[in-house]
Amino acid sequence: MEPNGLSFLDKVLDLVKEDRAESVPLIRFKHPKELEGILDLDVTEGVTDRQLEQCVRDVLKYGVKTHKATFRNQLFCGTDPYGLAGAWITEACNTSQYTFEVAPVFTLIEQKLLGHILKLFGIPDGDGIFSPGGSIAILYSIVAARYKAFPEIKVKGMRNLPEMIIFTSEDSHYSIKKAAHWLGFGTDSIRIIPTNDDGQILVPQLEAAIQKENDLGRYPLIVNGMAGTTVLGAIDDLIGVADVCQKYGVWLHVDACWGGSLMLSPKYKNKLKGIDRANSISWNPHKMAGAPLQCSVFMVRDKGLLHEANSAAAQYLFQQDKFYDVSYDTGDKSVQCGRKIDAFKLWMMWKARGDVGLSQLADQTMATAQFCMETVAKRPGFKLVSEVLQCPNVCFWYIPSFMRGKDQDEEWWKTMHKITPKIKELLTLNSQLMVAYSPVRQFKNFFRLAFTFHPKVDQEQVLSMLASIEECGETVTMAVL
Ligand SMILES: *Cc1c(COP(=O)(O)O)cnc(C)c1O
Repeated sequence: MEPNGLSFLDKVLDLVKEDRAESVPLIRFKHPKELEGILDLDVTEGVTDRQLEQCVRDVLKYGVKTHKATFRNQLFCGTDPYGLAGAWITEACNTSQYTFEVAPVFTLIEQKLLGHILKLFGIPDGDGIFSPGGSIAILYSIVAARYKAFPEIKVKGMRNLPEMIIFTSEDSHYSIKKAAHWLGFGTDSIRIIPTNDDGQILVPQLEAAIQKENDLGRYPLIVNGMAGTTVLGAIDDLIGVADVCQKYGVWLHVDACWGGSLMLSPKYKNKLKGIDRANSISWNPHKMAGAPLQCSVFMVRDKGLLHEANSAAAQYLFQQDKFYDVSYDTGDKSVQCGRKIDAFKLWMMWKARGDVGLSQLADQTMATAQFCMETVAKRPGFKLVSEVLQCPNVCFWYIPSFMRGKDQDEEWWKTMHKITPKIKELLTLNSQLMVAYSPVRQFKNFFRLAFTFHPKVDQEQVLSMLASIEECGETVTMAVL
């Protein structure tokens, strides 16, 4: 390799471009042991650039092509090409977001972009930070809520505080359980509030649960409202939830990790009505909007709070006697020390497309989901889990011919529970489609097709995905289950 290594980078760029050819399959699935046998993974001996190039080819060959329309396995998706360019530049610049002196341009970009986002979500006087993901964002929200309620926590810890309770919906993301554990509450401190069949929290039950904790002398700390649940895409009645939180003086966090991207669309943002009353909000542009992983925003209404709750005033990094305006050193608001520049890739996308360009992508995504839902509703053999389109999630079962026209009793559903993963297996092995499946509450394993900004998925492609599910579904027999 030449000293600066740039010729190898050129080569890699070519390989990445080749890997994006239409003819390259979505996945060449191998089981772990098989794959271990194929790849040259040992690092003991150094290799030549030629050999390393072959390694890169193998990495790409057996990797999953998440940029393809048929990758519907997660809520992240193909990246926005401008975002990808931003991510490449970020990696090449290799700096950290903590101080203005090492990231002058990126600091200003993060600040400007956060201001724009806070305005969009209706808390223009708030503050924010890019976090490594939604799971970390929920930690931020609970820490902020707890510090606001009991500022002495920072020095004295939890030992003399009342027992605090966290409220969340049955369909919310599992990260809140991890957060309760990590922050010393324990999962017993969580009250799970039931939802309706479409996945929205039952507001009267929430109020009753808060009332009950009050009566028992415990401290209702935070309600985690959902704006787009992971599986069904459910959006809670945020106004109803906000009213309850206000009445009892409970911190309202809105988990908009998935659904927050709908705020980009003037047409759909009213689905999240009431989000502007939240004390804190999390949004993952790395999901629906296609920012490269990881790109996640944590927002808080109370401007000084992030700094107060999280600062440790490290004297070697955040010196107060620096030669420039140190209010631009934003790193002490973070729980991290070194922090990746996650704002820049989102800024590149936004700069290229503007508010209007992003809103069009959101509208197009919802239109595709709407088409998919309408098609699934009338297509023989398909059955929707929820007929309400909240976020661009379409959840359904495929009922193979041999299962139709029968009593849908417990036995029948037990079989359906096995059929869905079997179809998924076949779809993956044939490299036809990578699709998510899950059970939720009483609902047995079903498929989730969730749509995203990138790549654009047209109606033909939706029909082809459904056809693939049907094709694999029809090959399933009782014998293979
Ligand atoms: C994905 C998701 C999260 C967690 O986000 P990560 O960035 O994966 O940590 C939280 N909430 C919801 C609703 C999600 O879908």
